[in-house]
Amino acid sequence: MADINIQDAKKNLEKKGFLDLDIDVNLDLFSEIERLKNEKNAVVLAHYYQEPDIQDVADFIGDSLALAQKAQSTTADIIVFAGVHFMAETAKILNPNKKVLLPDLKAGCSLADSAPADAFKKFKENHPDHLVITYINCTAEVKALSDIICTSSNAEAIINSLPKEQKIIFAPDKNLGAYLIKKTGRDMVLWNGACQVHELFSLEKITKLKMRHPDAKVIAHPECEESLLKVADFIGSTSALLKYSAQNPATEFIVATEAGILHQMQIQSPTKTFIPAPPDNACACNDCPFMKLNTLEKLYLCMEYEEPEIIMDEKLMEAAKKPIERMLEISKKFGL
Ligand code: SF4
Repeated sequence: MADINIQDAKKNLEKKGFLDLDIDVNLDLFSEIERLKNEKNAVVLAHYYQEPDIQDVADFIGDSLALAQKAQSTTADIIVFAGVHFMAETAKILNPNKKVLLPDLKAGCSLADSAPADAFKKFKENHPDHLVITYINCTAEVKALSDIICTSSNAEAIINSLPKEQKIIFAPDKNLGAYLIKKTGRDMVLWNGACQVHELFSLEKITKLKMRHPDAKVIAHPECEESLLKVADFIGSTSALLKYSAQNPATEFIVATEAGILHQMQIQSPTKTFIPAPPDNACACNDCPFMKLNTLEKLYLCMEYEEPEIIMDEKLMEAAKKPIERMLEISKKFGL
Protein backbone atom coordinates (compact mmCIF):
# COMPACT_ATOMS: atom_id res chain seq x y z
CA MET A 1 0.00 0.00 0.00
CA ALA A 2 1.51 3.31 -1.01
CA ASP A 3 1.96 5.95 1.71
CA ILE A 4 -0.05 8.42 -0.32
CA ASN A 5 -3.05 6.09 -0.06
CA ILE A 6 -2.94 5.94 3.72
CA GLN A 7 -2.75 9.74 3.91
CA ASP A 8 -5.86 10.00 1.72
CA ALA A 9 -7.61 7.29 3.72
CA LYS A 10 -6.87 9.16 6.97
CA LYS A 11 -8.25 12.37 5.47
CA ASN A 12 -11.46 10.54 4.56
CA LEU A 13 -11.71 8.73 7.90
CA GLU A 14 -14.32 11.02 9.44
CA LYS A 15 -16.55 10.85 6.37
CA LYS A 16 -16.23 7.11 5.77
CA GLY A 17 -15.85 5.91 9.37
CA PHE A 18 -13.01 3.52 8.46
CA LEU A 19 -9.72 3.41 6.58
CA ASP A 20 -10.81 2.76 3.00
CA LEU A 21 -7.72 1.04 1.63
CA ASP A 22 -7.21 -1.84 -0.76
CA ILE A 23 -5.68 -4.94 0.79
CA ASP A 24 -3.46 -7.40 -1.06
CA VAL A 25 -5.77 -10.35 -1.79
CA ASN A 26 -2.93 -12.79 -1.01
CA LEU A 27 -2.54 -11.51 2.54
CA ASP A 28 -3.57 -14.04 5.21
CA LEU A 29 -5.55 -11.69 7.43
CA PHE A 30 -5.83 -14.21 10.28
CA SER A 31 -2.05 -14.53 10.65
CA GLU A 32 -1.54 -10.79 10.02
CA ILE A 33 -3.93 -9.96 12.86
CA GLU A 34 -2.08 -12.41 15.15
CA ARG A 35 1.22 -10.75 14.20
CA LEU A 36 -0.18 -7.28 14.98
CA LYS A 37 -1.54 -8.46 18.34
CA ASN A 38 1.93 -9.67 19.36
CA GLU A 39 3.88 -6.73 17.95
CA LYS A 40 1.62 -4.11 19.49
CA ASN A 41 0.51 -5.90 22.68
CA ALA A 42 -3.06 -5.53 21.45
CA VAL A 43 -6.12 -7.48 22.54
CA VAL A 44 -9.14 -8.05 20.28
CA LEU A 45 -12.45 -8.05 22.16
CA ALA A 46 -15.45 -9.12 20.08
CA HIS A 47 -19.17 -9.10 20.72
CA TYR A 48 -21.21 -12.24 20.02
CA TYR A 49 -22.98 -10.38 17.20
CA GLN A 50 -19.80 -9.98 15.13
CA GLU A 51 -19.32 -11.98 11.92
CA PRO A 52 -17.84 -15.49 12.44
CA ASP A 53 -14.36 -14.60 11.07
CA ILE A 54 -14.00 -11.82 13.63
CA GLN A 55 -15.21 -14.08 16.46
CA ASP A 56 -12.63 -16.68 15.39
CA VAL A 57 -9.74 -14.23 15.48
CA ALA A 58 -10.76 -12.51 18.73
CA ASP A 59 -8.95 -13.06 22.03
CA PHE A 60 -12.19 -12.80 23.92
CA ILE A 61 -15.84 -13.04 22.83
CA GLY A 62 -18.65 -11.98 25.11
CA ASP A 63 -21.78 -9.97 25.77
CA SER A 64 -21.74 -6.36 26.94
CA LEU A 65 -21.11 -7.19 30.61
CA ALA A 66 -18.32 -9.70 29.97
CA LEU A 67 -16.66 -7.33 27.49
CA ALA A 68 -16.78 -4.41 29.95
CA GLN A 69 -15.28 -6.67 32.64
CA LYS A 70 -12.56 -7.81 30.25
CA ALA A 71 -11.84 -4.22 29.18
CA GLN A 72 -11.44 -3.31 32.86
CA SER A 73 -8.93 -6.08 33.56
CA THR A 74 -6.80 -6.20 30.40
CA THR A 75 -3.05 -5.51 30.54
CA ALA A 76 -2.83 -4.93 26.79
CA ASP A 77 -1.62 -1.52 25.54
CA ILE A 78 -4.19 -1.40 22.74
CA ILE A 79 -7.81 -2.56 22.94
CA VAL A 80 -9.32 -3.36 19.55
CA PHE A 81 -13.05 -3.42 20.02
CA ALA A 82 -14.98 -5.43 17.46
CA GLY A 83 -18.44 -4.29 18.41
CA VAL A 84 -20.39 -1.04 18.23
CA HIS A 85 -19.47 2.50 19.23
CA PHE A 86 -20.96 2.60 22.74
CA MET A 87 -19.04 -0.58 23.63
CA ALA A 88 -15.71 0.87 22.47
CA GLU A 89 -16.54 4.07 24.38
CA THR A 90 -17.13 2.00 27.53
CA ALA A 91 -13.72 0.33 27.07
CA LYS A 92 -12.10 3.77 26.68
CA ILE A 93 -13.89 5.15 29.77
CA LEU A 94 -12.52 2.22 31.79
CA ASN A 95 -9.04 2.66 30.25
CA PRO A 96 -8.53 6.37 29.60
CA ASN A 97 -4.76 5.92 29.16
CA LYS A 98 -5.00 3.12 26.63
CA LYS A 99 -5.55 3.32 22.92
CA VAL A 100 -8.99 1.95 21.97
CA LEU A 101 -9.65 1.19 18.31
CA LEU A 102 -12.96 0.49 16.58
CA PRO A 103 -12.80 -0.94 13.01
CA ASP A 104 -15.67 1.28 11.80
CA LEU A 105 -16.71 4.44 13.66
CA LYS A 106 -20.13 4.30 12.00
CA ALA A 107 -20.94 1.05 13.85
CA GLY A 108 -23.58 2.75 16.01
CA CYS A 109 -26.73 1.41 17.65
CA SER A 110 -30.39 2.31 17.04
CA LEU A 111 -31.11 1.81 20.74
CA ALA A 112 -28.36 4.23 21.82
CA ASP A 113 -29.59 6.68 19.16
CA SER A 114 -33.11 6.51 20.59
CA ALA A 115 -31.93 8.39 23.70
CA PRO A 116 -30.37 11.75 22.74
CA ALA A 117 -28.59 13.24 25.79
CA ASP A 118 -30.37 16.63 25.79
CA ALA A 119 -33.87 15.06 25.69
CA PHE A 120 -32.84 12.51 28.30
CA LYS A 121 -31.57 15.28 30.60
CA LYS A 122 -35.02 16.96 30.46
CA PHE A 123 -36.76 13.63 31.07
CA LYS A 124 -34.57 13.10 34.15
CA GLU A 125 -35.32 16.63 35.41
CA ASN A 126 -39.05 15.83 35.21
CA HIS A 127 -38.50 12.94 37.65
CA PRO A 128 -36.19 14.55 40.23
CA ASP A 129 -36.58 11.95 42.99
CA HIS A 130 -35.79 8.99 40.71
CA LEU A 131 -32.60 6.98 40.50
CA VAL A 132 -31.48 6.48 36.90
CA ILE A 133 -30.61 2.95 35.80
CA THR A 134 -29.44 2.92 32.21
CA TYR A 135 -28.78 -0.01 29.95
CA ILE A 136 -25.18 -0.01 28.68
CA ASN A 137 -26.52 0.52 25.11
CA CYS A 138 -26.38 4.31 25.36
CA THR A 139 -23.95 7.12 24.60
CA ALA A 140 -21.29 8.27 27.07
CA GLU A 141 -23.30 11.51 27.55
CA VAL A 142 -26.35 9.51 28.70
CA LYS A 143 -24.15 7.33 30.92
CA ALA A 144 -22.86 10.53 32.55
CA LEU A 145 -26.49 11.43 33.41
CA SER A 146 -27.09 8.00 34.98
CA ASP A 147 -26.63 6.60 38.50
CA ILE A 148 -26.04 2.94 37.60
CA ILE A 149 -25.38 1.27 34.25
CA CYS A 150 -26.69 -2.25 33.67
CA THR A 151 -26.67 -4.96 31.02
CA SER A 152 -29.28 -7.64 30.36
CA SER A 153 -27.09 -10.04 32.42
CA ASN A 154 -27.20 -7.99 35.61
CA ALA A 155 -30.21 -5.63 35.36
CA GLU A 156 -32.49 -7.73 37.55
CA ALA A 157 -29.86 -8.12 40.30
CA ILE A 158 -29.10 -4.38 40.22
CA ILE A 159 -32.77 -3.39 40.52
CA ASN A 160 -33.34 -5.93 43.32
CA SER A 161 -30.32 -4.56 45.21
CA LEU A 162 -32.08 -1.19 45.65
CA PRO A 163 -34.49 -0.35 48.51
CA LYS A 164 -38.13 -1.17 47.59
CA GLU A 165 -39.24 2.45 48.01
CA GLN A 166 -36.57 3.80 45.65
CA LYS A 167 -38.17 5.34 42.55
CA ILE A 168 -36.42 4.35 39.34
CA ILE A 169 -36.09 5.59 35.76
CA PHE A 170 -35.10 2.78 33.40
CA ALA A 171 -33.69 3.69 29.98
CA PRO A 172 -33.40 3.44 27.04
CA ASP A 173 -35.00 0.07 26.12
CA LYS A 174 -38.76 -0.01 26.81
CA ASN A 175 -39.02 -3.76 26.08
CA LEU A 176 -36.26 -4.72 28.48
CA GLY A 177 -37.76 -2.24 30.98
CA ALA A 178 -41.25 -3.81 30.72
CA TYR A 179 -39.72 -7.29 31.16
CA LEU A 180 -37.81 -6.11 34.25
CA ILE A 181 -40.95 -4.53 35.75
CA LYS A 182 -42.58 -7.98 35.53
CA LYS A 183 -39.55 -9.81 36.92
CA THR A 184 -38.86 -7.45 39.83
CA GLY A 185 -42.37 -6.15 40.58
CA ARG A 186 -40.94 -2.59 40.58
CA ASP A 187 -42.94 0.20 39.01
CA MET A 188 -40.24 1.93 36.95
CA VAL A 189 -40.58 4.96 34.68
CA LEU A 190 -39.49 3.86 31.20
CA TRP A 191 -37.79 5.76 28.40
CA ASN A 192 -39.42 4.98 25.06
CA GLY A 193 -36.49 3.46 23.15
CA ALA A 194 -35.97 0.16 21.32
CA CYS A 195 -33.50 -1.88 19.31
CA GLN A 196 -34.44 -2.13 15.63
CA VAL A 197 -33.21 -5.73 15.40
CA HIS A 198 -35.05 -7.14 18.41
CA GLU A 199 -38.27 -5.24 17.61
CA LEU A 200 -38.46 -6.76 14.14
CA PHE A 201 -39.02 -10.40 14.99
CA SER A 202 -42.29 -11.68 13.61
CA LEU A 203 -44.47 -13.52 16.12
CA GLU A 204 -46.53 -14.92 13.24
CA LYS A 205 -43.49 -16.35 11.44
CA ILE A 206 -42.07 -17.75 14.69
CA THR A 207 -45.41 -19.44 15.44
CA LYS A 208 -45.39 -21.04 11.97
CA LEU A 209 -41.77 -22.10 12.45
CA LYS A 210 -42.69 -23.65 15.78
CA MET A 211 -45.44 -25.69 14.04
CA ARG A 212 -42.83 -27.10 11.66
CA HIS A 213 -40.40 -27.75 14.54
CA PRO A 214 -42.68 -28.66 17.48
CA ASP A 215 -39.82 -29.82 19.72
CA ALA A 216 -37.72 -26.71 19.19
CA LYS A 217 -37.24 -24.40 22.17
CA VAL A 218 -37.87 -20.73 21.47
CA ILE A 219 -35.17 -18.69 23.21
CA ALA A 220 -35.34 -14.88 23.24
CA HIS A 221 -33.45 -11.79 24.36
CA PRO A 222 -35.45 -9.49 26.67
CA GLU A 223 -35.06 -6.61 24.18
CA CYS A 224 -37.77 -8.42 22.12
CA GLU A 225 -41.39 -7.27 22.32
CA GLU A 226 -43.61 -8.63 25.10
CA SER A 227 -45.85 -10.59 22.69
CA LEU A 228 -42.81 -12.57 21.54
CA LEU A 229 -41.42 -13.04 25.04
CA LYS A 230 -44.77 -14.64 26.01
CA VAL A 231 -44.15 -17.56 23.62
CA ALA A 232 -40.49 -18.01 24.58
CA ASP A 233 -39.38 -21.10 26.51
CA PHE A 234 -36.41 -19.19 27.86
CA ILE A 235 -35.57 -15.47 28.09
CA GLY A 236 -32.06 -14.25 28.83
CA SER A 237 -29.05 -12.14 27.96
CA THR A 238 -26.93 -13.23 25.00
CA SER A 239 -24.56 -15.19 27.25
CA ALA A 240 -27.51 -16.75 29.14
CA LEU A 241 -29.05 -17.89 25.82
CA LEU A 242 -25.72 -19.44 24.82
CA LYS A 243 -25.43 -21.27 28.14
CA TYR A 244 -29.04 -22.49 27.99
CA SER A 245 -28.63 -23.80 24.42
CA ALA A 246 -25.53 -25.77 25.47
CA GLN A 247 -27.02 -27.20 28.67
CA ASN A 248 -30.63 -27.88 27.67
CA PRO A 249 -31.23 -31.41 26.32
CA ALA A 250 -33.34 -30.11 23.39
CA THR A 251 -31.73 -30.53 19.98
CA GLU A 252 -33.47 -27.69 18.12
CA PHE A 253 -33.66 -24.01 19.07
CA ILE A 254 -35.39 -21.04 17.47
CA VAL A 255 -33.16 -18.12 18.43
CA ALA A 256 -34.73 -14.65 18.78
CA THR A 257 -31.71 -12.39 18.99
CA GLU A 258 -29.07 -11.14 16.57
CA ALA A 259 -27.95 -14.03 14.36
CA GLY A 260 -24.21 -13.66 15.13
CA ILE A 261 -24.64 -15.65 18.35
CA LEU A 262 -25.51 -18.77 16.30
CA HIS A 263 -21.81 -19.18 15.47
CA GLN A 264 -20.85 -19.73 19.13
CA MET A 265 -23.98 -21.85 19.75
CA GLN A 266 -22.99 -24.14 16.89
CA ILE A 267 -19.36 -24.34 18.13
CA GLN A 268 -20.50 -25.27 21.64
CA SER A 269 -23.22 -27.71 20.47
CA PRO A 270 -22.17 -29.04 17.04
CA THR A 271 -24.91 -31.70 16.89
CA LYS A 272 -27.80 -29.33 17.66
CA THR A 273 -29.79 -27.25 15.17
CA PHE A 274 -30.13 -23.50 15.61
CA ILE A 275 -32.75 -21.65 13.59
CA PRO A 276 -32.59 -17.84 13.49
CA ALA A 277 -36.01 -16.37 14.33
CA PRO A 278 -37.30 -14.58 11.20
CA PRO A 279 -37.93 -10.84 11.25
CA ASP A 280 -41.12 -9.13 10.15
CA ASN A 281 -39.77 -7.89 6.80
CA ALA A 282 -38.93 -9.25 3.37
CA CYS A 283 -35.36 -10.03 4.42
CA ALA A 284 -34.89 -13.44 6.00
CA CYS A 285 -31.94 -12.41 8.14
CA ASN A 286 -31.83 -10.71 11.51
CA ASP A 287 -28.37 -9.23 11.42
CA CYS A 288 -27.68 -5.96 13.18
CA PRO A 289 -26.61 -3.60 10.36
CA PHE A 290 -24.33 -1.70 12.77
CA MET A 291 -22.53 -4.74 14.17
CA LYS A 292 -22.01 -6.08 10.67
CA LEU A 293 -20.26 -2.89 9.50
CA ASN A 294 -17.10 -4.35 11.05
CA THR A 295 -15.29 -6.76 8.74
CA LEU A 296 -12.07 -8.75 9.02
CA GLU A 297 -10.47 -6.35 6.50
CA LYS A 298 -11.42 -3.27 8.54
CA LEU A 299 -10.20 -5.00 11.70
CA TYR A 300 -6.81 -5.67 10.11
CA LEU A 301 -6.50 -2.10 8.77
CA CYS A 302 -7.38 -0.48 12.09
CA MET A 303 -4.74 -2.61 13.84
CA GLU A 304 -2.09 -1.92 11.21
CA TYR A 305 -2.61 1.88 11.19
CA GLU A 306 -4.10 2.31 14.70
CA GLU A 307 -7.09 4.21 13.33
CA PRO A 308 -9.99 4.84 13.84
CA GLU A 309 -9.32 5.57 17.49
CA ILE A 310 -11.90 6.42 20.15
CA ILE A 311 -11.07 9.91 21.44
CA MET A 312 -13.16 11.29 24.30
CA ASP A 313 -13.36 14.34 26.53
CA GLU A 314 -11.73 13.67 29.92
CA LYS A 315 -14.51 15.22 32.01
CA LEU A 316 -17.13 13.20 30.13
CA MET A 317 -15.14 10.01 30.72
CA GLU A 318 -14.87 10.75 34.45
CA ALA A 319 -18.62 11.40 34.76
CA ALA A 320 -19.56 8.30 32.73
CA LYS A 321 -17.13 6.08 34.64
CA LYS A 322 -18.91 6.34 38.01
CA PRO A 323 -22.17 4.57 37.00
CA ILE A 324 -20.20 1.93 35.04
CA GLU A 325 -18.01 1.21 38.06
CA ARG A 326 -21.11 0.98 40.23
CA MET A 327 -22.46 -1.68 37.86
CA LEU A 328 -19.20 -3.62 37.94
CA GLU A 329 -19.07 -3.48 41.76
CA ILE A 330 -22.66 -4.75 42.13
CA SER A 331 -22.05 -7.48 39.52
CA LYS A 332 -18.95 -8.62 41.43
CA LYS A 333 -20.92 -8.72 44.68
CA PHE A 334 -23.50 -11.01 43.07
CA GLY A 335 -20.88 -13.15 41.35
CA LEU A 336 -22.05 -12.08 37.86
S1 SF4 B 1 -28.57 -5.42 18.00
FE1 SF4 B 1 -29.82 -3.62 18.55
S2 SF4 B 1 -29.05 -3.01 20.58
FE2 SF4 B 1 -27.49 -4.37 19.68
S3 SF4 B 1 -26.09 -2.94 18.62
FE3 SF4 B 1 -27.59 -3.60 17.08
S4 SF4 B 1 -29.16 -1.97 17.15
FE4 SF4 B 1 -27.95 -1.79 19.03
